[in-house]
Amino acid sequence: MDLFTGIRPLLFSYVLINGIFITLQTKEEVLLDMKASGGELGWLTWPLDQGDKPGWEVVQKTLNGSQLYTYSICNVGEREQDNWLRTTFIQRRPSASRVFVELQFIVRDCNSFGASSLTCKETFNLFSSESDADVGTTFRKGQFKKVATIAPDEITGKKELRINTETRVVENLSLKGFYLAIQDIGACVALLSLRVYYKICPATIQSLASFPETVAGGENQALREVSGECVENAISEGLPRIYCTVDGEWVVPVGQCQCKPGYEETEDACKECLPGFFKAEASSGKCEPCPANTQGLDTGALFCPCMDGFYRAPTDPPTGPCSGLPSAPRDLVATTSHLSVGKLLLSWRPPEHTGGRTDITYSIECLRCEGPVCQSCGEKIRYEPANVGLTLTKVTVSELDAHLNYTFTVEAHSGVSAFASQAMPQAHKLPLTSALTTSLHYTDPPKITSMRLVKQNPTSLSLSWEVSPKPRVQARPIRYELTYRKKDDNLDVTTYTVLILEKNSVQIPDLSPGTAYLFRVQALGSDGSPGGSSIEEQYETLSEGHLAHNNTAVISGAAIGGAVMLLIVVIVLFLHRRNRNSHTRQGPEDTYFSSPEQLKPLKTYVDPHTYEDPNIAVLKFATEIHPSHITKQKVIGAGEFGEVYRGILKVPGRKEVAVAVKTLKPGYTEKQRQDFLSEASIMGQFAHQNIIRLEGVVTKFKHAMIVTEYMENGALDRYLRDHDGEFSAYQLVGMMRGIAAGMKYLSDMSYVHRDLAARNILVNNTLECKVSDFGLSRVLEDDPEGTYTTSGGKIPIRWTAPEAIAYRKFTSASDVWSFGIVMWEVMAFGERPYWDMSNHEVMKAINEAFRLPAPMDCPSAVYQLMLQCWLQDRSKRPRFGDIVSLLDKLLRSPESLKAIADFDPRVSIRLPSTSGSDGPPFRCVPEWLESIKMSQYGENFTCAGIVSMDQVMQMKNEDIKNIGVRLPGHLKRIAYSILGLKDQTSTLSVFAV
Ligand code: AMP
Repeated sequence: MDLFTGIRPLLFSYVLINGIFITLQTKEEVLLDMKASGGELGWLTWPLDQGDKPGWEVVQKTLNGSQLYTYSICNVGEREQDNWLRTTFIQRRPSASRVFVELQFIVRDCNSFGASSLTCKETFNLFSSESDADVGTTFRKGQFKKVATIAPDEITGKKELRINTETRVVENLSLKGFYLAIQDIGACVALLSLRVYYKICPATIQSLASFPETVAGGENQALREVSGECVENAISEGLPRIYCTVDGEWVVPVGQCQCKPGYEETEDACKECLPGFFKAEASSGKCEPCPANTQGLDTGALFCPCMDGFYRAPTDPPTGPCSGLPSAPRDLVATTSHLSVGKLLLSWRPPEHTGGRTDITYSIECLRCEGPVCQSCGEKIRYEPANVGLTLTKVTVSELDAHLNYTFTVEAHSGVSAFASQAMPQAHKLPLTSALTTSLHYTDPPKITSMRLVKQNPTSLSLSWEVSPKPRVQARPIRYELTYRKKDDNLDVTTYTVLILEKNSVQIPDLSPGTAYLFRVQALGSDGSPGGSSIEEQYETLSEGHLAHNNTAVISGAAIGGAVMLLIVVIVLFLHRRNRNSHTRQGPEDTYFSSPEQLKPLKTYVDPHTYEDPNIAVLKFATEIHPSHITKQKVIGAGEFGEVYRGILKVPGRKEVAVAVKTLKPGYTEKQRQDFLSEASIMGQFAHQNIIRLEGVVTKFKHAMIVTEYMENGALDRYLRDHDGEFSAYQLVGMMRGIAAGMKYLSDMSYVHRDLAARNILVNNTLECKVSDFGLSRVLEDDPEGTYTTSGGKIPIRWTAPEAIAYRKFTSASDVWSFGIVMWEVMAFGERPYWDMSNHEVMKAINEAFRLPAPMDCPSAVYQLMLQCWLQDRSKRPRFGDIVSLLDKLLRSPESLKAIADFDPRVSIRLPSTSGSDGPPFRCVPEWLESIKMSQYGENFTCAGIVSMDQVMQMKNEDIKNIGVRLPGHLKRIAYSILGLKDQTSTLSVFAV
C-alpha cells in the first residue's frame, strides 16, 4: 500500500437526494508537502547544539519497499527534553485563513525501552507562529502558539510499524505566512509526512449562474457568501448567490437565473428555441411548440404569430392559440309572445363553427318597413335583456307596432371579431358578418272586450264575445281559443277543455246539469299563439228540472258546423294532493335525487359578482339580524375588515346560541362593505356539517356584521401546534375526513375555494373541523401567506397546485392539491409546510418533482393519499368524493393506520448538513435543541448533567422521558433527532437546498 499518496486535488463526496446521487466536488490546495521535498527539507531544529544527545534528524527509512525521508528523534532516556523542529516559512494565500495540517508519524511504545521508559513520552506537540516575513534561522519559542498535543492511535512495538495519521486545523490566520513547529518532550517519534493545505470550492455553474473558485472560510466565517453571474442569455431578478462551506462545498444557491425569452435551458447553458417553438417569458420552462392556428418562426421565437384568417383577441394570451371567426347563427325563429301585445321572442341556434372559441355573443339589428320605406328600428323598440353582447340564443323584442314589416338580423361575434375587422381593410369587412336574417309582418291579436251567455239549458251553454278592433272585411279571419273547466273541480284530477274557434260564438254540449263552469277566451295571433288580453267568466247549466227544448243535439250540430268548432285537446292535469298540500316550496335547485349514487345536490354556487347589485345577493342568501339580538363578548381574532368577536345571538322565540361576529371597521368604503358582505353571500349558500354556518348578517345598520356559528377551538393550524403530539393518527384522520367532506360538498356545488389551508379550517369543542374563509376579494388579500405573482394576483404558494401558480388554473383539482398540504399540516401537528424554505425554493423543488416527506408517525396509507393529491397531472389526482371514501375506509378499519410511512428525521426536522465532519454536527446541547425547536427543554438537560453532545448521543428513549420530556410528540422529535445524529450516512437532506 502506498501510504503517501500526497496529491489529492479533488475529493468527491456523494450525497443522496431523493434517491439521486449528487456529486459535490471539493478541491484542496497544498501549501507544503514534506514528502515532495525528499531529503531537501532544510527545516530548523532547536536547540542547535545538542552535544551527544542528537535532536531531530533526517533519517532515511525503507517502508514497505519504498525509500523515504523522515524527521526522527528518540531521546527517551533523558529528562526534560525540549526539542523543536520548525518548518520553512509557509506563504499563505490571502483568502486562506484556515489551513489543515495532516501529520503521518510513528511513535514507539515506551514499554519497549525497559529502564528508560520512566522518562519516555508517547506524545508530541504541534505549534504555529504567524509572520509577515521569512525570519530565516531566527527562532523564538515564545512566538509559537500551541495548536494541539498529538497522540498516536497506535503505538509501534518491537515488531510491526504502526503509522498514524492525524489532521489538525490552524485557524484565524491573517499575516502573510506562518511557521509550524513540532515540539518533542522525550518521545521516540518518526515524522513521515507533514502536509499543509487549505480547501476551496471550485468554480461551478449552478442553476445557470457561474461562480468563481473560492477559498473556504475559517471558523469565524463558516459559510462564505459568493456572488455569481448568470450564464449567457440568462437573467435573474436578484444577484445569484451561493455559499462556500468550510469543507469546500457549495451549498444553498439563492436567486436563480432563468433563460430569457426565446431561450431554454440545456446543460448549464441557454439555447435558442428551435424553429416552430417559442418561449414568451424568462422562465425555467422549456420552449413550447407553436399553438393551434399559428405559424412557427425561425429560431429564438418569443411568440408565434397567427396564421392568415386567424386572430387573437386583445385579452387572449399571446402564447395561446389563434382562432377563426364564428359562422352565422342558425335557424332564426320569431315567435309572437303570449305574454302581452307588441312583443315577440327571437330565438336561434348557435353557429356551426365557433372558430375554436367559447366567448360567442350575439347582436340584433332591426329594420322596420312601412310599405317600401325601411329604416332602422333605433330606439323605437326594446330588447330584453339587450340587443348586443347576448350570450343566450334568444331575446325578447317589445314595443312593436302592429301591421309593420320587421326584419331582424342576428349576428354572431367572438372575442376576435372586433379585432379581426380592425385588422382588415374596410373592403373586406363584409364577409366578417356572421349574420342570419328573418322578416315578419307583425299584427296585434285583437282584444276580447266582453263575453255573454246567450242560452242556457241542463247540458249545454251558448256563449258569444266581442272583439276590438273589429275584424276588417277581407282580412284574415281571427281565431279564438276557448278554455273551460268545472269550477269546483277540486279532486285530484282537473279536466280542461280547449277549443279553437273561427267565430266569436259557440254552443258547448255535453255539460253536467246544475254545474258552474269557468270559461276563458282569448284571440290568437297571426302565428297561432294566444295573444292579447283574455276574459274569464263563470256560467252555470240549468238543473235537470228546467227542461227546456230537447234539441241540444241539433243546436250543437249546427254550432259545430257553422262555427267550425275544433276540439283540439283535452288536458288532464294530475295534481297530486301531496304536492298541493306541501307548503314548503322547493325550487329545483333544492331537489336531491334519492338514488344513492346520484345523491348529489343539483344546487350550484352562484357567484355574488353576477348580481349587478351585491346588496341584493346578500339579501337573497343571508338572513338579516337586528343588532339588538347580538351581544359581543370578547375579541377573538382580527379579520381583514375588522375585529372578530365571540358573542351571543338571541333571536326572540329561538334558543340562545354562541356565535362569532365579524365586524366592519369604521371608515370603510362602499366597495369594502360589499367585499366584506360578499363572504356572507357565499357562505349563506352552503349548508353542510363541515362548512362554517352563517347565522345571518347585519346590513341595515351602520355597523355591518357577519354572524356565524362559534368554533370554540379556533383555527386548526394554531390548535394543532398548541396540542403537538396529543392526538392519535385515528383522531387526526377523523379531522381530515371532516374537511374532505366539506370540500366534497363545495366541489359538488362547483365552488373552488382557492385558499384551503389549516389556518382557514376552524375547530369546535367536539373536534369537528369546518371549512371557512369565503371572502371574494380574499384571494387572497387577507391571507398573510398570499404572495404577489408576476401577473399581480396573490397566491399562497406553499398550498397551491403548480398549474394554479403557473397560469391561475384554479379548479377543484387544485383544491385537492391544497387538501394534500392540509393533510400534511394535520399529521405534522401544524408544522409549516416546507419549513423555512423560501417560496421560490418551494416552487423550484416542486417543479423538480420533490414532494414533502412523510411527517413523523404518519400512516403509510395517509401519506400515499397525500402523494396522490400532489400529482403533477391534475386529472390524475383523486376527487374529493374519492378522498372521503378512502378516509372513511381507513376509519372503519383502524388497523389500516398501523403501517407507518418511512420517516427520515434529518429531512423532517431539518438537521443541518453534517457533510464531511466526524462526530455530532452541533457544538453544544443548546445549539442542537434550538435546531430541532425544542429549546424549552434546555434546563432539563442541564439539570440532568447532560452538557455535551457525546452524552446526548448515548441517551435512550427512557433517559429522555426521565429528564422530564413527557409529550409524546416532543419525545419522538428528540429521540428521532438523536437517531439522526448517530446515522450520518447521508449528508444533506432533501430540503436543505
Ligand atoms: P377570518 O377573518 O375569518 O380569517 O378570522 C380571523 C380569526 O378569527 C380566525 O383566525 C379565528 O381565530 C377567528 N374566528 C373567525 N371565525 C371564527 C369562528 N366562527 N369561531 C371562532 N373563531 C373564529
